[in-house]
Amino acid sequence: MKTESPHNEETVLKGIPASPGIAIGPVFVFLRHAPVIEERSILTEEVERELGRLEQAIARSHKELRKILEFAEKKLGEDKVKIFEAQLMFLEDAVLFDAIYARIRSELKNPEFVVHDEIGKYHRIMLASKDEYTRERANDVEDVRNRILRNLQEQRAISRLEGSSVIVSQNLTASDTVILSRNEVLGYATDLGGITSHTALLSRALKIPAVVGLKTISHTARDAERVVLDGYSGVVVLSPTEETVKRYEAKRASYHEFEARLTGLRDLPAETLDHHRVELSVNVEFEQELEFIKLQGADGIGLYRSEYLIVGKEVFPSEEEQFNQYKLLAETMYPKRVIIRTFDIGGDKMMAESAKENNPFLGWRGIRVMLDKPDLFLEQLRAILRASARKNVALMFPMISNLKEVRRARKLLDEAKHQLRKEGIPYDSRIKVGVMVEVPSAAVIAEDLAEEVDFLSIGTNDLIQYLLAVDRGNDVVSSLYQEFNPAVVRFLRRIIDRGKKKGVWVGMCGEMAGDPLATILLLGLGLDEFSVVPNMLPEIKKIIRGVKYSEAQKIARHVLKMKTEDEIKAHLKSMMKKKFPDIPIG
Ligand code: PEP
Ligand code: MG
Repeated sequence: MKTESPHNEETVLKGIPASPGIAIGPVFVFLRHAPVIEERSILTEEVERELGRLEQAIARSHKELRKILEFAEKKLGEDKVKIFEAQLMFLEDAVLFDAIYARIRSELKNPEFVVHDEIGKYHRIMLASKDEYTRERANDVEDVRNRILRNLQEQRAISRLEGSSVIVSQNLTASDTVILSRNEVLGYATDLGGITSHTALLSRALKIPAVVGLKTISHTARDAERVVLDGYSGVVVLSPTEETVKRYEAKRASYHEFEARLTGLRDLPAETLDHHRVELSVNVEFEQELEFIKLQGADGIGLYRSEYLIVGKEVFPSEEEQFNQYKLLAETMYPKRVIIRTFDIGGDKMMAESAKENNPFLGWRGIRVMLDKPDLFLEQLRAILRASARKNVALMFPMISNLKEVRRARKLLDEAKHQLRKEGIPYDSRIKVGVMVEVPSAAVIAEDLAEEVDFLSIGTNDLIQYLLAVDRGNDVVSSLYQEFNPAVVRFLRRIIDRGKKKGVWVGMCGEMAGDPLATILLLGLGLDEFSVVPNMLPEIKKIIRGVKYSEAQKIARHVLKMKTEDEIKAHLKSMMKKKFPDIPIG
């Protein structure tokens, strides 16, 4: 426990918002000591006793994990406990532990050393992985190892805290997060972790505010120091001034009130005051989000990023695995629509077989990869088709940059349909097919694309980076990445107009669809569908329901004449402040 005096000045840290809510309270620095392991030789006559000690430590670890599993099951429900089941399975891995026992016998080394070394091999391989998911899962393996080592050293785990506090740690394992939540935890703040970290996933399920990826907070924060943690924006303030605390208390109160009012919107349609109805759907990456989405009252899933199924895998998931996942989505959302995007790998997204490219965003990405791998593509198309039997599934292709790609992809889709028909497997023969408009060339030929598909979905995340030549992930040029650049706004109008003239609906699944500052403009430009991050859905719905379509069209016409992003943003901001003073805008 660190006992230095708190900071004199407030320190503001910025991390990744992992679970919404605002926590204000004292810090508890949770230090997980890396076990100190000695390499010791043992005598032949000590072997049996040492093996017995190890067996006991494993049994004790097993008991602890079972208890955590039971507690998590009660608190979070069965579907959230897979992490702990996986840890228990690891602990029951006969091959691994036979190897450990054999090494103790043959090398005559103490169990602490052999356990540390043998499990360390798995851990290192997983940590070296390129994808975030596997690296996160390496923590689970390390956690099991440390649990055995702690039990070998006969030390107890910290699980009880005095009073309520914000837990600050370098990293929290799944079991830490759950065990600590038996106390009154106000929030979690960690140095490491991304949006798929356990702290992120579990704190959302536990409804405890959390910020991850704070890099240095476990070194900077002092025990008992006061902290403000904002799980909406990812800001953490250590030793906040009274003024800061008051500001966050006010933000917390207004969010509570706002959220309470938003829940009333759940079952209402996304319809303007003059009854212009649009579709309001959500973007989904993980099945764990489904429960939350159902609560928010979405019209459907407008983008399922299927490539997240590949995370952590060496090979592509089989047709069967994919089918099970797509079916789960389709069934959970039924009768609402689920749009499955075929794998969009490459660029910044993980892939087992990654090509070395100087410009990955301009390289082998999305549809380009899948068209080069027709067998794998066919498997995915078959899996999507099989999940479409109840007619609430649509599919779309990412990174389309010319017509030929659409035609080739559709040909493979026909081939997949033909195979299924021959095999007597049911599917929706009229499944709707769309393309993402996220490459400028696709935007230019929107009318031609629209003749070949049922809908267009604008991917602004990529479209903006390609149109403005600004890398979407590069901080140095982030001020040039402009959603409200007049070129972007005019381009959007063009895509929407051309698509609709050809009789297809036009949606948007890029982040811009979930930006409250853009809602009225997009509505006025004639967008038919908004697919947003689940957190933003209630606010976007509130805006849509609070404006007339005719007024939105007027605003869009006005904005289309503007010449700079500053002018457009200032106009939209002042309009939002007047019409929706309680909606926070960036
Ligand atoms: C987009 O580019 O806007 C999009 C939705 O796709 P992704 O963010 O997955 O590239
Ligand atoms: Mg994209």
